[in-house]
Amino acid sequence: MRRLFIGFMLFSVACFLFSGLAFCEDNKLPNVTVITTGGTIAEKVSAKSGGAVPALSGKDLIDAVPGLSKVANIDVVNFCNIDSSQMTPEIWANLSKTADKILSDPSVKGVVITHGTDTMVDGAYFLNTTLKSDKPVVFVGAMRSAAELSADGPDNILNAVTQVCSDNAKDWGVTVTMNQYINSARNVRKTQTTNVQTFNCGEEGYLGYIAMGKIKRFNDAPKQRKFDIPEKLPKVDVIADFAGSDGSLIRYSVDNGSDGIVMIGVGAGNVNAEVYKAIQYALGKNVPVVLTSRVFNGRVLPIYADQGGGATLQKAGVILGGDLTPFKARLLLMMVIPEAKGDMKKVREIFKDSL
Ligand code: ASP
Repeated sequence: MRRLFIGFMLFSVACFLFSGLAFCEDNKLPNVTVITTGGTIAEKVSAKSGGAVPALSGKDLIDAVPGLSKVANIDVVNFCNIDSSQMTPEIWANLSKTADKILSDPSVKGVVITHGTDTMVDGAYFLNTTLKSDKPVVFVGAMRSAAELSADGPDNILNAVTQVCSDNAKDWGVTVTMNQYINSARNVRKTQTTNVQTFNCGEEGYLGYIAMGKIKRFNDAPKQRKFDIPEKLPKVDVIADFAGSDGSLIRYSVDNGSDGIVMIGVGAGNVNAEVYKAIQYALGKNVPVVLTSRVFNGRVLPIYADQGGGATLQKAGVILGGDLTPFKARLLLMMVIPEAKGDMKKVREIFKDSL
């Protein structure tokens, strides 16, 4: 009798555990991995530090999203927990390799990456040029921390997981999905320092919009040439031209080991005569120079032929950076330089082919 009772109790416990597991992992739902890296979405204001500091784990973030378990089975990977102002291309390189490893599992539908918004557009662009997988990868963050009124993080996470699971969101590569709008990694910019509607793609437009679990598709994503992540990322500086600038920062950069320079020009891509002389110094030392603009929309073009005009610069061997932001052009040049193996002509060709 005693044995029967113990046997019955063990059987009931086993049933309870199995039903509990079955409840947790619903094998009808897609599997989505959330990789957390920090940022406001995971920060809390502390009296001691007097401002927002990294505080929440990946599990804290997921637990704060009601209804998520009805959309997908979530696995969490705590990659790092830093403000994205501290991010580096090397960290993004490791993040890209980590995401690819996770995405190589056939049971994983896609990945959501929670990240600070300050450098999110650059991190998304880095992964969009290096990921081998073509499964969906969605960057999300928050403009208001978990402790603030109307925190936007939970809704952004729910939308991102929904997007990864949606068949209407195919072939978008890496996106930045914030405040219901879906932005391509290539064109997205942060345009307002504190507003939740801060990300947009300028005149290129959003890829789509998500509400109540449904996606409205506007555009296909721009095609992106992919690169292997180099063993060692080259040193590429970003230097702005401004009224009266004398080009000394360019000479300093060249003389202190930079492998490439991205110029932030004015207008459609122009610099002053002193800066033009310094650019010629850089080119003479076989340091590639890419020209971008401080202007929000539009491409740099070879229009002006005075000392430092876009046409003069192109003729001198400067690479026109299209409508890429200076900071995305920097990440692209960091990929192109090792691929071109020091051949300046190849740097120009590959860069142009990757815009
Ligand atoms: N400083 C924060 C970050 O980039 C801003 C945010 O996440 O909204 O990590």
